[in-house]
Amino acid sequence: MSRTHRIAVLAGDGIGPEVMSESLRVLDAVEARSGFATERTEALVGGAAIDDGGHPLPEATVNACEASDAILFGSVGGPKWESLPPDIQPERGALLPLRKHFGLFANLRPGVCLPSLTHASPVKNELIPNGFDVLCVRELTGGVYFGSPKGREERDGEPVAFDTMIYKKSEIERILHVAFTAAMQRGKRLTSVDKANVLASSVLWRETATEVAASYPEVRMDHLYVDNAAMQLVRRPGSFDVMVTENLFGDILSDEMAMISGSLGMLPSASLGAKKEGTDLYFGMYEPSGGSAPDIAGQGIANPIAQILSAAMLLRYSLGEGQAADLIEAAVARTIDAGFRTGDIATGADGETKVGTKDMADAIIERL
Ligand code: NAD
Repeated sequence: MSRTHRIAVLAGDGIGPEVMSESLRVLDAVEARSGFATERTEALVGGAAIDDGGHPLPEATVNACEASDAILFGSVGGPKWESLPPDIQPERGALLPLRKHFGLFANLRPGVCLPSLTHASPVKNELIPNGFDVLCVRELTGGVYFGSPKGREERDGEPVAFDTMIYKKSEIERILHVAFTAAMQRGKRLTSVDKANVLASSVLWRETATEVAASYPEVRMDHLYVDNAAMQLVRRPGSFDVMVTENLFGDILSDEMAMISGSLGMLPSASLGAKKEGTDLYFGMYEPSGGSAPDIAGQGIANPIAQILSAAMLLRYSLGEGQAADLIEAAVARTIDAGFRTGDIATGADGETKVGTKDMADAIIERL
């Protein structure tokens, strides 16, 4: 009997529904070849849910997610809902509560530039002859964004403001385990990024990383200070495999990584929560790194690859279907190599075929 997994499908707004339906067609095709099935529950989120019942994250949607092994998320938001009170706006009222409800503490963002798309990267092409493929693992629920005390007061006659960068050892350990697990599934190299020459929280981070490394003897780990990591990322992105870092540093480095990759329409992301008992699999939410792109929504021209690769990450990290994930990623790379381009990555060069959302998915399915 084939394996069955349950996923919640939250397409959302803007280009969300367009790219989601293409990613589901790719999933259908890969399931037919791989001997497993996904049972999908579609649910409303974001602006679509506000229009339907007045709230961006209905209880029925949370229930559907709770009953699933993972969430495949599109994107939310758009001009129509921007003047609503902040707490019921699509992003603030749906994305953040979902992350909180499911304790999603690890954010994984690949920065991938395929060899045939290096022209789209702002990095000098001679520095990235073979493109690059880096995975940024960012701690998402701790550090200076959430530490207390934080505040603002009057001292010696002038305003002062303060935040607290604080980490418990157990928080550092669990994000390190996510990063080492990812490294084991990739190139077995991990760079831990900190500021241990200045920050006490980074000294604990580095000590803990070194301790956790002992459980993963196959993974080669090194340490970089965050300022150096930011420089090395633009100088030699191809030399990294997995990078792991705390919340604030990861916020900045993962955006730098997205920028040097060249196209938002190509980049997936994962936010992982608790590990499923006795496995290396995590409950997680998977979504494109970009937003709902209202400027191109409804035109059938959005790049579906970020959503399709989000589904691949879901297969790998939440369902244990790593081979099927490899199949999708290889088919995407072959499709790009064959010259298929949506508008965001087209240059008009010889050998390119400009396609819309659906044709791009068809080309990928053909190459699975
Ligand atoms: P955006 O990522 O939606 O768009 C930025 C630019 O990238 C646009 O020109 C867009 O056309 C392009 N782009 C993005 N994805 C693309 C794709 N798959 N194919 C082709 N081009 C693509 O960011 P924005 O314009 O700042 O935000 C638009 C809306 O999305 C806002 O309402 C914002 O709040 C929301 N948003 C949602 C999420 C999310 O759901 N996680 C994340 C970011 C922004």
